[in-house]
Amino acid sequence: TIGLDSLVTWLDAFRTAVTEQRAYLTELDSAIGDADHGANMARGMAAVMEKLETSTPSTADELFKSVGMTLVTSVGGASGPLYGTFFLRMGMTAGAVAEFDGAALAAALRAGLDGIVARGKAEAGDKTMFDALAPALDAFDAALAGGTPIPAAAGVAADAAEAGRDATEPLVARKGRASYLGERSAGHLDPGSASSALLMRTLADVLG
Ligand code: ADP
Ligand code: MG
Ligand code: MG
Repeated sequence: TIGLDSLVTWLDAFRTAVTEQRAYLTELDSAIGDADHGANMARGMAAVMEKLETSTPSTADELFKSVGMTLVTSVGGASGPLYGTFFLRMGMTAGAVAEFDGAALAAALRAGLDGIVARGKAEAGDKTMFDALAPALDAFDAALAGGTPIPAAAGVAADAAEAGRDATEPLVARKGRASYLGERSAGHLDPGSASSALLMRTLADVLG
């Protein structure tokens, strides 16, 4: 099973990843957006970890509620509310538990993705974070159903997220700022799919 300490380690690893790749995420967003995705994610996750240092939750619902609220309040634009909703829904689904098994983690992640869809109405191929997260969670579910241990299943999910990220390059954006560019959005990776691939890769790294 996966304890709360591992979940906090995951969030910390995600903070480190978006901070280290801040310039890259911003560069992607400068091509088809407003050049702030790296700053948004780095600022948001710094605020998340700061909050967790002052008050350490003892259950998954409290942990993810805190993460989600902090992202919603500290990050503007599209990604704050979307990632915020992802974690808020993860928390609501997790309940007052101190550890996850594979099925519970998969269910919480799925609820998070459903929250992103409820909020942003993205569909497959719209060139958003959905295009990294949806194939990742499908792959995670399939791997777990096939009896793959959680760490390896998380690795399969991260691989699928990165493939999904790469597959956004030729797409024409249909959601978010990039959609304002129409056809000119094609030929660039979606920044949110890149940060979401980092979210899944750091999960695999922490569990592996
Ligand atoms: P903003 O576009 O407000 O500056 P960010 O640059 O931080 O916010 O985040 C942009 C990312 O948000 C996009 O690359 C995309 O992945 C994601 N995004 C935007 N709109 C939506 C939506 N409706 N549904 C899902 N993801 C979205
Ligand atoms: Mg932006
Ligand atoms: Mg912006």
